[in-house]
Amino acid sequence: MRDVEVLVVGAGLAGLRALYGFRAEGFETLVLEASDEVGGVWNHNRYPGARCDVESYDYSYSFSKELEQEWRWTERYPTQPEILRYINHVADRFALRQDIEFQARVDVARFDEATATWEVEVQDGRRFRCRFLVLCLGQLSAPKLPHYPGQDSFAGETIVSATWPKDRGVDFTGKRVGILGTGSSGMQMTPVIAQTAAHVTVFQRTANYSVPAANAPLDDEEDRQVKANYAARRDLMRNSPTGLGFLPGKTKTLDVPEEEREAVFEKAYHRLGFGFALAYPDILLDEKANDAATEFLKRKIGERVSDPDLRRKLVPDNHRFGTRRPSVDSGYYEAFSRDNVELADIRAHPIVSFTQDGIITDIKHHELDVVIYATGFDALTGSILKPDIRGRGGLRLRDKWAGGPLTHFGIGTSGFPNMLIVGGPGSPSVLSNVMVSIEEQVDWFVAFLCHLRECGVGEVEVTEAAEQEWTAHVQERARETLYMTADSFYNGGELPGKPRVFMPYSGGVRNYRRLLQAAATNGYTGFELRPVPKAVEVAHDH
Ligand code: NAP
Repeated sequence: MRDVEVLVVGAGLAGLRALYGFRAEGFETLVLEASDEVGGVWNHNRYPGARCDVESYDYSYSFSKELEQEWRWTERYPTQPEILRYINHVADRFALRQDIEFQARVDVARFDEATATWEVEVQDGRRFRCRFLVLCLGQLSAPKLPHYPGQDSFAGETIVSATWPKDRGVDFTGKRVGILGTGSSGMQMTPVIAQTAAHVTVFQRTANYSVPAANAPLDDEEDRQVKANYAARRDLMRNSPTGLGFLPGKTKTLDVPEEEREAVFEKAYHRLGFGFALAYPDILLDEKANDAATEFLKRKIGERVSDPDLRRKLVPDNHRFGTRRPSVDSGYYEAFSRDNVELADIRAHPIVSFTQDGIITDIKHHELDVVIYATGFDALTGSILKPDIRGRGGLRLRDKWAGGPLTHFGIGTSGFPNMLIVGGPGSPSVLSNVMVSIEEQVDWFVAFLCHLRECGVGEVEVTEAAEQEWTAHVQERARETLYMTADSFYNGGELPGKPRVFMPYSGGVRNYRRLLQAAATNGYTGFELRPVPKAVEVAHDH
């Protein structure tokens, strides 16, 4: 059994940042990573067209000014290969790999009350002990797969977008491809796969909103300007509601004349990507304001589709803009004007079954050589509840969160001492630029552990009162918004059997940081701090 002070689970963007942060403060830190490479979701989601819809300069670490200056992004919205190159560069530049144990998927983590430590076992039987367990498992990393009759009988190739084959390229030339899912993943891959496949059928259950990505190569002058002003840019990001650097307009949507509103929407639509949602401050808060944005986007999507029947199907009709995660696309709607791209509206005509050579809906047999599942993730809690995590008295996290996650700030839960979560439910997570959220949380954790070390604290636990209060606050903030008017991965409503509870903190990155900082300043409110158990002190004396 290997002993370390801090055990981080996951070597994605959060895990690497955590390793860097803890190690810099002298904590003996080890990362356990299930795969054989760093990168997390960016290592696994290698589907064609995979790209981040946060701008490159903002989807990067801020902890090293040198890194910031030396890395050269090539496009406004970075592709998956470019992000993965960046992550690998960071791992090499800061010698992070030496403290990562690869092919170490955590199966079980048990809290040992006698020693106030965690015992962690990975799939192949290797065991580890740590004082602090830091979960960096990602919010959108446990794939969610559909179940249809006859699925196993399909004789063609089946690929999951979130676990795309790494060891070989996938050649679609001459193939008939079926894509299930029209979230960001499905929308990104459709136009790219259509370029080489013989035929693409997109199986759409819900039409999604999308804003076109104003993607472009980054020239040297822009690069120089951003790098000369990076500190101010970061500051703006940290102080914006979503960590993207967009500040909402001040005037309410309906307080401006229609013509002016149209011009503002138009400008945001063509330049801001996600920032469109902040064109006015009340788009996600007020039904009438949202109606205006929703109607504008429906019109814009409609203008991108020339065929009236297709337009009727592709324009969203069952939820408001922003209440489910919108997409930022590159040529998605235009792909349907190709002769080899077809839309199967499976809400109107559901899938009946899979066959050996395709998928049957109630009106058609789609013959396919490849089926791609771009069907999303068991968001926010899926990856955390996959390992068997057992806290005080053997309490299983899966049981504790059966009715929905209970956390204090999204970073800890009572009954599970010395366990911290980066990007957990109850934090801004999927409603924010995750890079900003990751860095804020990790820096806070590192300061927290330094404080505990200075005070001789060996055990720290969220109080039940604090998690009740925070979880209620998260719900309260969500009720101020329109988010609960739709089923989504934000609230578990799109996954049968999952409790319908709003999970991310919708109060904004800036408010969240202020509340976290206030808790620290006031002596880490909501946490009970206890000394190292006596038995361990004695054991160490020998
Ligand atoms: P997603 O947004 O959850 O979309 C999943 C899609 O699969 C939906 O269209 C869903 O339909 C469909 N689906 C689910 N179950 C189905 C079933 N049984 N039969 C048919 N269709 C089914 O997942 P995603 O596209 O992978 O994206 C997830 C998130 O990952 C994004 O929102 C984003 O946060 C992140 N992501 C980001 C990027 C980026 O930065 N550019 C790229 C990819 C992913 P319903 O809507 O009807 O449920």
